Amino acid sequence: MKFKLLISILLFASIIFSKDDRELIFIYNAKSGLVNEMIDFAHKIVSPETYDCNLCALSYGTFTKKKKWSNYINTLPIKSTFTYRDKVSALKKEFSNLKFPSIIIRDGIYLKEIISWVEINRIKNLNQLISLLNERLEKNGMESKKRKDKNITKQEWEKKLTPEEFHILREKGTEKPFTGEYDKFDKEGTYKCAGCGTELFASTTKYDSGCGWPAFYEALPDKIEETSDNTFGMKRIEITCENCGGHLGHVFNDGPQPSGLRYCVNSISLDFDSEKEED
Ligand code: FE
Repeated sequence: MKFKLLISILLFASIIFSKDDRELIFIYNAKSGLVNEMIDFAHKIVSPETYDCNLCALSYGTFTKKKKWSNYINTLPIKSTFTYRDKVSALKKEFSNLKFPSIIIRDGIYLKEIISWVEINRIKNLNQLISLLNERLEKNGMESKKRKDKNITKQEWEKKLTPEEFHILREKGTEKPFTGEYDKFDKEGTYKCAGCGTELFASTTKYDSGCGWPAFYEALPDKIEETSDNTFGMKRIEITCENCGGHLGHVFNDGPQPSGLRYCVNSISLDFDSEKEED
């Protein structure tokens, strides 16, 4: 009888924790329970920056206010969950004394802490959290297979993007010259795809081409796809985001050295991340 029970438990566990079932778990508080969860929720909504958990303070506000965090989470090859320590320590007893906040990976039934509370509490902004997460995911063999966004449907893009973004990124539109936010813009940082958050261009490769759109002489490696475009009676090379297929603009051979290229990009196709941003 006991044997049968053990087999049933093992079968149940194997269904729940199948090998493909991997998860990035963010532990941000000690205990679950209706009252705790309601108080947490209220505190985070009212004042995420004073919430006594650096992980939440770093990430929660951006869930609702910015696309950066949600875009990042969406590109990860594993699902992610924010949860409570007692829910995780139910899976692994050693974790009952785990100090939070903490970030762990679950791969089937295997659990491993990848960022400790000491490290999280040293992090000052979201960019630092994202780069540390990238580093640790890579160490655990999960970074290289970032999810591609090419299978998102038209209806999903319509919900995700503003009408202007949808027209340019998904319908290959072009913004009017000299009107874009990043045409005359020279801050230091990284330009990302406005559709999926993939990093595309470094500000150090941006220059003023005078053409009316943001121009770069170089793209970040392996982030851009090029396709012949013979529309409007012109022979051009269209550039799209390698991850989501979003239309960015065109690349021409009249750029400055060292590349001689001009990546001419719609501002609306881009989001900008300042290197000095504190959030
Ligand atoms: Fe993209």
